[in-house]
Amino acid sequence: MRGTEATTIEETEAASPDAEFIAQANERLLDASPRETLRWVYDTFGDDAVMATGFGPSGVVLMQLVSEINPGAGVFYLDTDLLYPETYALRDELAERFDIRFIRVGAPSLKDQAAQHGDRLWERDPDRCCFIRKVQPLRQFLAGRRAWITGIRRDQSHLRAATDVVGWDKANKLVKVNPLALWTEDDVWSYIHLNELPYNPLHDAGFPSIGCMPCTQAVAPGEDPRAGRWRGRAKTECGIHLKA
Ligand code: SF4
Repeated sequence: MRGTEATTIEETEAASPDAEFIAQANERLLDASPRETLRWVYDTFGDDAVMATGFGPSGVVLMQLVSEINPGAGVFYLDTDLLYPETYALRDELAERFDIRFIRVGAPSLKDQAAQHGDRLWERDPDRCCFIRKVQPLRQFLAGRRAWITGIRRDQSHLRAATDVVGWDKANKLVKVNPLALWTEDDVWSYIHLNELPYNPLHDAGFPSIGCMPCTQAVAPGEDPRAGRWRGRAKTECGIHLKA
């Protein structure tokens, strides 16, 4: 079993590859399989590339591939201390099953956040809460790295509809690689069932998209898959995948 580890934050700035390099890589990998894209990332960036996961089904698919292509690779997750018990249990199951090394990226304690911003900040100002618990820790963790890998897909929402396979993440100043950008939800679930991969049981209980407990609800049949996230608000993204 590969364990989990805490992070050391380095505040160095990565050099930006030129726009032509990114455009050419994107063009070439748009038709590539996720496996080919992941090989390219690790061949190009080595240990300066790191995968992110929120433990959704796309992330599970990628973790299985990463485990085969680059055994022992680091996979980080943003631990807001507000994830579902089922999500932590899935993390432990994946750590047993795959040859990957989970890296926990933590946020300020909930006690400190309550002391500074008041209790249950997510109910009053979810953008600020997401900034403190997700956006800021992500920015600090990625500083000094050259590429990160995510499971986001074009079919997940209109804000993700223009997702490239390879792009430049302006906010975090590094290359962002999305090997499943052109996959559909059906593609992901077919792969999971075909390969008998584990997944969060909450998906079978009406939760297609799962984040922090206070900001996630079940959706009704036919409803937008992300409708249960920050229900009742215009907010649909925590901010880590928004283009700056
Ligand atoms: Fe806070 Fe909700 Fe964002 Fe989690 S999803 S960081 S609880 S606002």
